[in-house]
Amino acid sequence: MRKTIIVTGGSRGIGAAIVRLLANEGYNVVLNYNKSEEIAEKAKEEYTNKGYNVEIFRADVSKREEVKKLIEFAIDKFGTIDVIVNNAGIDNEKLFQNITDEDWNNVINTNLYSVFCMCQEAIPTMINKQSGSIINISSIYGTNGGSFAVAYSATKAGIIGLTKSLAKELGPSNIRVNAIAPGIIDTDMNKGYSKEDIDNIKEEIPLNRIGEGIDIAKCVKWIIEDEYTTGQVIKIDGGWYL
Ligand code: NAP
Repeated sequence: MRKTIIVTGGSRGIGAAIVRLLANEGYNVVLNYNKSEEIAEKAKEEYTNKGYNVEIFRADVSKREEVKKLIEFAIDKFGTIDVIVNNAGIDNEKLFQNITDEDWNNVINTNLYSVFCMCQEAIPTMINKQSGSIINISSIYGTNGGSFAVAYSATKAGIIGLTKSLAKELGPSNIRVNAIAPGIIDTDMNKGYSKEDIDNIKEEIPLNRIGEGIDIAKCVKWIIEDEYTTGQVIKIDGGWYL
């Protein structure tokens, strides 16, 4: 049977590339968005015209009640959930001393609490069928840290701890939990960088380019199809942080 996959933050950037690849592969996909309603509706129209199985659902995944509704929607539309891709995220580029409590809570809730809620709400369905896969999008800032990004890096490192611990807890139920740690990927999140900044970063990357959403989407597809990988953090950064 065709697998059902929820992609949080599927409206733009990396999430949109993941939705595109998985829809094209014939999976049932729930594209979650929050603010980008128009983009999500256009995507739905495009995928429906192509005969793909993509549904869209607005939910702020930093809120438990909205996550519950997202999970209920997926089950209502497709009957089950096989995979969740916890991709939604925001950054917060600030000098550490300037991070406010509000910044901190916002980043933690959007990037980390959302993953906690998504996993808790999706896992009962996966445990019932003794099968499932959870894919969390971390970052090289989570593995290696990043200056002017302490709050963000803390969430991405938190995702790694959550991933490894949950992999141990859920392995016996045949549920795999993995994380991907992208390097720099060409999305709106990096639109603040000048061409010169990007050129300088490229020089530090052995593969000599910044990544595209599709580079991360291909790894997501691989993890979905694999059956014996769990608790891993896969860096996809062109060799930047070896
Ligand atoms: P992006 O282009 O800024 O897109 C962010 C996505 O997250 C949007 O679809 C947005 O949806 C969604 N989102 C944000 N807050 C949300 C919320 N509360 N509820 C639901 N959706 C929410 O960012 P991106 O670069 O694709 O990043 C995607 C993930 O990859 C993030 O977790 C990010 O930390 C991680 N990452 C990115 C890079 C990079 O270089 N780009 C590197 C490492 C890791 P709406 O627009 O609909 O609100």
